[in-house]
Amino acid sequence: MIIDGKKEAEILRNEIKREISQIKKKINKAPSLHVILVGNFAPSEIYVRNKIKKSKEVGINSKIIRYPKDVKEEEVLNKIDELNKDNEVSGILVQLPLPKQINKEKIIKLINPLKDVDGFHPSNVGNLASGYSSMIPCTPFGCLLLIKKVEKNLSGKHAVIIGRSNLNGKPMAQLLLKENCTVTIVHSKTKNIKDECLKAEILVVAAGIPNLVKEDWVKTNSIIIDVGINKLENRIVGDVEFEKIKEKVKAITPVPGGVGPMTIACLLKNTLKCFKARLT
Ligand code: NAD
Repeated sequence: MIIDGKKEAEILRNEIKREISQIKKKINKAPSLHVILVGNFAPSEIYVRNKIKKSKEVGINSKIIRYPKDVKEEEVLNKIDELNKDNEVSGILVQLPLPKQINKEKIIKLINPLKDVDGFHPSNVGNLASGYSSMIPCTPFGCLLLIKKVEKNLSGKHAVIIGRSNLNGKPMAQLLLKENCTVTIVHSKTKNIKDECLKAEILVVAAGIPNLVKEDWVKTNSIIIDVGINKLENRIVGDVEFEKIKEKVKAITPVPGGVGPMTIACLLKNTLKCFKARLT
């Protein structure tokens, strides 16, 4: 089975759109998402454009706040402070990466955790790790929703995650632990990665290395989630040997058209969650 991330994301966006339209009818208010974009790094421009387009389609009022590459850190911090205090702002997203003069940690820590649609604030990270209610980082959130489309009950499954970034690997591990999986994280310093992968009933790959996972690294009947986005000459590929592996496993996400669309749909879901939390 090839997991159709495009279709699943569309279903999720339609649910979000319906809910926003119902709320709007009742109280004449809609969520708002404010995206801070520093510089003109081409991939960031594309990601932000997509996020804004998709958020508008579901009825989220979205806005890009642009700064030149050499903007002072203080100016961005002041803007975040202003957005934190503004009751009309539901969600704040600072597109990464940031230029050298801006301290990413300071930026992430200043965003109000209740408006932290990326789920990167230490308070959200801690809540997720403790199994409490939190904002969930969009990519692992999307991965979990896709896994659950294939298998509803993940209890007792052996999940292996390749990559330990704050963005993907670590929150993915927390989410799968919460689902009662047995979780192994492997990374660039792990010995015998293949042996670890061969134990996986669920394998989530987020390393950013094209064709890292080979056909003989995966079990039949496993679920493979490929987070990687790698540009090769004129095409985009993931981190797994998709063509060879797709015949062998129970389910696999393609790249493109797998995790990517779900990431944006989960950003919209998070923005709606932040908005609703402020209504109560
Ligand atoms: P990162 O560079 O921060 O982390 C990569 C991780 O992979 C590290 O923990 C590293 O230890 C591990 N790693 C590197 N080489 C390895 C190897 N040979 N074997 C095992 N582990 C290895 O990257 P990231 O931000 O987590 O992103 C990972 C990939 O996911 C990238 O391709 C990125 O573009 C993609 N991505 C996709 C989406 C999406 O929506 N689909 C979102 C975010 C990131």
